[in-house]
Amino acid sequence: MAVLPIHVLGSPVLREETRLVDGITPELLRLADDMIETMRAAQGVGLAAPQVGRTERLCVVEVEDERHVLFNPEIIEREGEIKWEEGCLSIPEVFGDVLRSARVVVRATNREGRRFEVEGRELLGVCLQHEIDHLHGKLFIDHLSFLKKRRAMQAWDAEKDKYPGLLRVVAPGHPGEGSSPENL
Ligand code: ZN
Repeated sequence: MAVLPIHVLGSPVLREETRLVDGITPELLRLADDMIETMRAAQGVGLAAPQVGRTERLCVVEVEDERHVLFNPEIIEREGEIKWEEGCLSIPEVFGDVLRSARVVVRATNREGRRFEVEGRELLGVCLQHEIDHLHGKLFIDHLSFLKKRRAMQAWDAEKDKYPGLLRVVAPGHPGEGSSPENL
């Protein structure tokens, strides 16, 4: 497995629509493994393919003991509302309150190519919604009000020069800054 460079805000791939995966290949399984390793090294609880410069519809989540590899995930049920302070591995050191559904059910394909469903509330639910947004070119800052988004962008202005080439390199075993559990 390998820790991959993480694309940060400004990298065009973060704004691209992903494409459906139509077959689970060994190469895609290796990508999923690398994404899990990258997410852990960066102390995140979720990571989507565009964040490592890829356009496959694939994300990984790990909240407490629950870990999932999700190919072609889609939200099939949602209810209620919850406000959660989110961050993003692609926008380090920037946080903001986002209103999400309080409970979601997501249908996806697993590593074995079988369809499955996962129900998420609280952090898992927020994380699933955040990662699925990534797969459609959407970032958590897009959910913020005009003023909060402007504040977030000002915070990012002070951070972005730390990432030459719009890439964030996280060393294995040397987690970077941002060890809070809201890193999605
Ligand atoms: Zn994110």
